[in-house]
Amino acid sequence: MTISPLPTITLKVPAKINPQIRVGPLRQDGYHDITLAYQAISLYDTLTISHNLEGPTIHVTGMDSDRVPHDERNLVIKAANLLAAREGVEPRLHFELAKCIPSEAGLGGGSADAAAALVGCNIIWKSNLTPGELMDLGAHIGEDVPFFIEGMMAIGLGHKRPLIRLETVEYKWTWVLGVPYRGLSTKAVFQEYDRILERTSSGEEDYLIRRQGCLETSWGSCPPEELLDALENDLELPSMQLLPDIRIALEAGRSAGAIASLMSGSGSTCAFLAKSEGHAGLLKEEIQRNEVFREVMVASGPVQGVELLETGT
Ligand code: ATP
Repeated sequence: MTISPLPTITLKVPAKINPQIRVGPLRQDGYHDITLAYQAISLYDTLTISHNLEGPTIHVTGMDSDRVPHDERNLVIKAANLLAAREGVEPRLHFELAKCIPSEAGLGGGSADAAAALVGCNIIWKSNLTPGELMDLGAHIGEDVPFFIEGMMAIGLGHKRPLIRLETVEYKWTWVLGVPYRGLSTKAVFQEYDRILERTSSGEEDYLIRRQGCLETSWGSCPPEELLDALENDLELPSMQLLPDIRIALEAGRSAGAIASLMSGSGSTCAFLAKSEGHAGLLKEEIQRNEVFREVMVASGPVQGVELLETGT
């Protein structure tokens, strides 16, 4: 009997930005309610999966690879182990991860890679999990993981609550992304947010109104120019207080002519909306002159989530 060689597969997975984030007050259990819009953008990590009897192993190259764990702490390995346990298989695989998504930047790179590993292992092991089942599994790894399975645009409602997918996505958004040298700890940003809420009278009711605004915005079916007022991130103010570079970054984008500027996730990447690809090129040149940024890139969205690029032997 001949045993057919097991395939090597390569997948690509996009980064995300958050056109809006609404955060509730600190709950008794120490967490926050959160409602956030996601958009997948054309900045990709690439994951190649091959068989390895010594696996699971991983080798990481590219952008910020020195900031990413090269062992079982990597979310790629966590995702593979999770699916392997569910399927009752040994994760005898090697992962080659080529990163283009800056790390710890609010662009969801680690979660994106975990989603790519789930989709890839599902193919390699012929597990036949549906996208919905992969999303459910992904939610055990991290809040953002389910979004990357299908990408495009969606609204997230926080920990382990199903995503609301936006089916009509008609318009292209062109962004210039500025990644500051200094990053921010997500935990510190939320703590600063709590301190700000304590000093103001903003509470649960106020959050519910802002949350409703996010749910009612026509994210998928309006040109971005009509949604400029909706581009807001509740974590921007606490982030600026902790890291004044964020304020400098956002101002740099505005004075360079961006039609909107906002911080993505819990920072520190700032996203600047351009009128067109040509305008984005000019914005990028202008923004690059500011010394707070370590990387400035152009990307557009929405794009689809994890994609299979090739299957080999
Ligand atoms: P988010 O937007 O979800 O808050 P982020 O973009 O700010 O995430 P990531 O790049 O996802 O940050 O990294 C978050 C943490 O996850 C880092 O401490 C990093 O070391 C760890 N990590 C684990 N696996 C990966 C991976 N494959 N790629 C990047 N970071 C990873």
